[in-house]
Amino acid sequence: MLKFDHVSKIYKKGKRAVDDLTFEIEQGEFIVLIGPSGCGKTTTMKMINRLIEPTEGNIYLNGENILDIDPVKLRRKIGYVIQQIGLFPHMTIEQNISLVPRLLKWPEEKRRERAKSLLTLVDMTPDFLDRFPFELSGGQQQRIGVLRALAADQPLILMDEPFGALDPITRDSLQSEFKKLQQKLGKTIVFVTHDMDEALKLADRIAIMKEGRLIQFDTPDEILRNPANTFVEEFIGKERLAQARPHIQTVDQIMNQAPVAVNGDVSLTDAIKIMKNRRVDTLLVIDEERKLEGYIDVENIDINRKKAKVVSEIVQRDIYAVKTGTLVRDTIRKFLNKGIKYVPVVDDEHHLVGIVTRANLVDVVYDSIWGEGNGVENGVHS
Ligand code: ADP
Ligand code: MG
Repeated sequence: MLKFDHVSKIYKKGKRAVDDLTFEIEQGEFIVLIGPSGCGKTTTMKMINRLIEPTEGNIYLNGENILDIDPVKLRRKIGYVIQQIGLFPHMTIEQNISLVPRLLKWPEEKRRERAKSLLTLVDMTPDFLDRFPFELSGGQQQRIGVLRALAADQPLILMDEPFGALDPITRDSLQSEFKKLQQKLGKTIVFVTHDMDEALKLADRIAIMKEGRLIQFDTPDEILRNPANTFVEEFIGKERLAQARPHIQTVDQIMNQAPVAVNGDVSLTDAIKIMKNRRVDTLLVIDEERKLEGYIDVENIDINRKKAKVVSEIVQRDIYAVKTGTLVRDTIRKFLNKGIKYVPVVDDEHHLVGIVTRANLVDVVYDSIWGEGNGVENGVHS
C-alpha cells in the first residue's frame, strides 16, 4: 500500500534528517515509528503527504509515485493528526469531528450521519454532537480527537504523537480503544511515538529509527526477542526485555558475584596460596578501584616463578570480558567459539562485578534444552 524506496531528506546545512529509508507497508497494518527526539520521525511522516518533499528516492502509494499526485488530492486520501492538537473550544463536537469532511465539502447531512456513527463507535451517544468541548471530560475530549482522524474515512491515517499529552490512565484506555477501532475499520495507520510501551501495545510492526536511519522494522514480538543491536536493546529497556523474555537471561542473573581476584602488588607466593585455598587455577587481577586488569594462572606463575615476585609482573592483559546486561545466549556462543573456561563480567567503567563459569552455564543450557515446553509431563523423562 505504501512503499519507501531509498528515501532521504537533506536539509539546508547538509544534515540527513532521513537517511536512505526503504520499507513497505501493507493495507490494514498498524505501523509505529519510534526513536529518540530528532531521529526523523516527523520528517518521514510529512513526506508521505508531501508536506515535506524527499531530497532523494521515491514514495509510492498503491503503486503510484506520490510526486505524480496533486498534493491536495493526495492529502484528501490521507488522514493526518498532528502532535497534540486539542479540540477547538468554540466549535461543537460535531463541528470538531467534521473538520476534514467539511474541507472535503461533504454535504451537511452526510457529515452529521458520519459524526453520529463515529460517536457510537466509542460508546458515546448522539446527544454529544451539539455540546462544546468544555462540557466533556478529558477522556471524552481525547476520544473526539481520535474520531476526528477517522472522520473522512481515509484508508491511510498518519498520527504524530496523538496521545502525547494525556495522563497515563486516559492514555492507556484510549490506546486500547483506538487499536480496536483500527482493526474493526481496517485502516492503515502510520503512528509516531517515542514511547516504547505505546509502540508495543499498538503496532503490528514497529520501525525503530536512529539518526534518520531505519535500525529495525519488525513485529513487537520479534523486536523483543531479537533486538537488532544494543541501541534497540537499550531503547526497549532491560526491564522490559527481562519481562518479555523471562526465559532469556542476562549474565548478571547467573554470574558468581564473588570472583576470586587479587591486586597487582600481591606476592606470587600469596597468590598460589589463594589459588590453593579457593581451588581455582586462575586469578583475576584488579586495580585499587576494582577495575579489571587481566589474569594470572598456574601455568604462567610456574614459568615465571624464578624471576618474578609480585602479580603485576606477570599479569596477562589480553582478557576477554563481557558487560553487565549481556545476554547469556550470546555468552554461551562465545564460550563455545573461543573455548574459554570462564568470563569476567564488568560494568560500564570496567569494574569487576562477577564471573561466569562453565558450571554456571550448564544450568542455563540444561534449562533451555529441557525447560519449558519439554516437560516431564510430556514423557521426555519417562
Ligand atoms: P523527530 O520527529 O523524530 O523528533 P524530526 O523529523 O522533526 O525528528 O527532525 C529530524 C532532524 O531534522 C532533526 O535533527 C531536526 O532538527 C532536523 N530538522 C527538522 N526540520 C528541519 C528544517 N526545516 N530545517 C533543518 N533541519 C530540520
Ligand atoms: Mg516529531
